[in-house]
Amino acid sequence: SDMLYKEPGDGERITFEKGKWVVPDKPVILYIEGDGIGPEITQAAIKVINAAVEKAYGSKKEIKWMEVYAGEKAEKIAGNRFPQDTQDMLLKYRVVLKGPLETPIGKGWKSVNVAIRLMLDLYANIRPVKYIPGLESPLKNPEKVDMIIFRENTDDLYRGIEYPYDSQEAKKIREFLREQLKVEIEDDTGIGVKVISKYKTQRITRLAIQYALNNSRRKVTIMHKGNVMKYTEGAFREWAYEVALKEFREHVVTEEEINRGVKPEGKVIINDRIADNMFQQIITRPDEYDIILAPNVNGDYISDAAGALIGNIGMLGGANIGDDGGMFEAIHGTAPKYAGKNIANPTGIIKGGELMLRFMGWDKAADLIEKSINKAIERKQVTQDLARFMGVKPLGTKEFSDALIAII
Ligand code: NAD
Repeated sequence: SDMLYKEPGDGERITFEKGKWVVPDKPVILYIEGDGIGPEITQAAIKVINAAVEKAYGSKKEIKWMEVYAGEKAEKIAGNRFPQDTQDMLLKYRVVLKGPLETPIGKGWKSVNVAIRLMLDLYANIRPVKYIPGLESPLKNPEKVDMIIFRENTDDLYRGIEYPYDSQEAKKIREFLREQLKVEIEDDTGIGVKVISKYKTQRITRLAIQYALNNSRRKVTIMHKGNVMKYTEGAFREWAYEVALKEFREHVVTEEEINRGVKPEGKVIINDRIADNMFQQIITRPDEYDIILAPNVNGDYISDAAGALIGNIGMLGGANIGDDGGMFEAIHGTAPKYAGKNIANPTGIIKGGELMLRFMGWDKAADLIEKSINKAIERKQVTQDLARFMGVKPLGTKEFSDALIAII
């Protein structure tokens, strides 16, 4: 059958060696425009990323972008929201910048976002949350916020091992609990199973610590409720420390060691906090937190809470990362009411692109993007969502990205 795509002849694939990114000077990177405001913000992001790469590396490095279709656009072109050709290209090239995709609520199709995550085994959801001066924040000293949440994305209560109270499965499990484990349990009890494995805990711990080392971060905090859920969240804590101390001994120091008088000497500090305490900690002492490593459910909750500290969801990017691939995006959705109107804020997906450049090791370009966003906001060159709080005339999506490019 006819292939939907023609691959760029003059670019090379990014490859992975034991989780390490091997990035050629002219890498092929896929993009998915996405639904709603997706096309506008994705195109804006690509222009800004290209400008930063060119400024940083001249003609030495260049991203060879290749569009693949998913969502509504794919439905129109190929009659399918997630065509086989798109899947083949994702499996081949493994790195993608993605606009938001509409996710179904009770419709006959599955979330493409989830399908991509599963296909590439993107087990870590990563969300940087760093304050940008000039933004409205609920905090008194928001400039102290500079955290990155590493949320485990494949394990825990969200595995979906769940049964309604009146199902045969729930009945059998209740019988097993009563008869084999001598546990009292009421007949009207629905059942969900919490599972946390050593393998999955340790691979995300490795990723988080390696990221800390590659990007000069100071600390990794394990967020858990291990005092209550000893063999799932408590085990998460233990297994995470085990990786830190067995595989990164030269580069890390634990908080407990520091309390015993060991000098940190610029090493990455590893500590842990109880999950509920963590919420007040990031509000009252944000400067004490840097990378937060969390199992799936905790990570879900703390990501939103941390995001709120900087005030605006249009400003946050994120990624889903595995050992051999990554999907980079804005954290917000398709904002259908702004679609096609040149109103939406493209900063979220641009931040996703900045994070992508950091995983590629192209930090010089990433820094240029970060600085340009900060500068534009300082100058109050902003889109409508921020302009109305700043009392200035808004820029359109395109004009805002042009302003960033002019600063770069
Ligand atoms: P949303 O993020 O699209 O919108 C929430 C609010 O924020 C709206 O008022 C919207 O107009 C505003 N907003 C969001 N992004 C903005 C931007 N860049 N600039 C200016 N304003 C912005 O969330 P929703 O309305 O709950 O979801 C809409 C659709 O997006 C749903 O189909 C949902 O499933 C999907 N979604 C997809 C992703 C993804 O692809 N990763 C993430 C979240 C939601």
